[in-house]
Amino acid sequence: MTKHHPSNDCLMEHAAGSLPVAQAACVSAHLSYCERCRRTDSQLKTVGGALLERLDPIPVSEALLDTVLARLEDPVPLTYTGQTAAAELPSLLQRLINGDFSQLVWKRITRSLSISYLSTGDTNYEFALYRIAAGGRIPEHTHGGGEMTLVLEGGFSDGRDSYHPGDFIYRDAEDKHAPVALDGEDCICLAVLDAPLRFTGWKHRWLNPFQQLHAG
Ligand SMILES: [Zn+2]
Repeated sequence: MTKHHPSNDCLMEHAAGSLPVAQAACVSAHLSYCERCRRTDSQLKTVGGALLERLDPIPVSEALLDTVLARLEDPVPLTYTGQTAAAELPSLLQRLINGDFSQLVWKRITRSLSISYLSTGDTNYEFALYRIAAGGRIPEHTHGGGEMTLVLEGGFSDGRDSYHPGDFIYRDAEDKHAPVALDGEDCICLAVLDAPLRFTGWKHRWLNPFQQLHAG
């Protein structure tokens, strides 16, 4: 049973189809673990659909109504209309959730951390698997943007709590964290990082601390 879930706002955006494809894939992967969020997701979709189809008033909160109505005025997200690999994502996610990591290319970053970069077709987000060796620590860091994490295998602790398969964690740009993989098993996480194109040096800025640490 998963303990850490996407926020209600996040689930709402997911149900409304307005999350960028990389983030939507991460939330969808969480739903495959989490019955509670699956139920919320389908309720939100039902409410959204009912608002579109029916004139009869439906008892929903003002906030929800406002959000759904605001969505109707939004332009269609570009990430869903381009030549994204969105159609291939479910099978990719299925493979990831089944622990089929055999065909992935892993880039070694430190002794404890390897990263496998995957493509969703959305270059605004880094979509990657992180493998932290059992008991290994990732040096404290922040990111240039938000970070969604979903644990697929093993687990990690960040000093506040520990996280296990299916757990979903969102950190904003200011959030410093230094995850440590739990003992006994490598930890594999799906991570979706905001990496807008304007941050051209993003990878280097983020990887430099690792390289320095590694060298030192
Ligand atoms: Zn959940």
